[in-house]
Amino acid sequence: MSRPGRKAWWQEGIRFECQGSGRCCVSRDSYGYVYVTLADRRRLAAQLQLPTGQFTRRYCLKADDGQFYLDSPEPECRFLDGTQCSVYEARPIQCRTWPFWPENMKAKAWTAIAEFCPGVGQGDIVPAEQIVKILREQRRATEEG
Ligand code: SF4
Repeated sequence: MSRPGRKAWWQEGIRFECQGSGRCCVSRDSYGYVYVTLADRRRLAAQLQLPTGQFTRRYCLKADDGQFYLDSPEPECRFLDGTQCSVYEARPIQCRTWPFWPENMKAKAWTAIAEFCPGVGQGDIVPAEQIVKILREQRRATEEG
């Protein structure tokens, strides 16, 4: 993000509004995995009316670091239906917090995102305080697994 004592480049907020393109639901380079925490798996399983264990066995794989991620044989997320998320209400925290992820908040990474995500530069400015809150939420969820 930024060095201690140095203001982040997004200190004045960032203009962003989801345009519903579904493009963030397609794997590209380092944006290839949708990680799912236990809370995510429970929510998704409930939406699909499955026991959590069955959801995990059917739809998830485990990474070397022990985190689960959605197993999508195609570059598109398996829950993407056209440009719509078919599990929108129960979508994982990673999807809820897009594009305000810790690794995205470097200016260079943000420029790369702007190339494929049409929401960048649209809508109202998301204030820095809200971005910080989202980043914390994302970090907490990752730590809890
Ligand atoms: S779960 Fe939904 S929002 Fe998340 S990547 Fe898949 S289709 Fe997109």
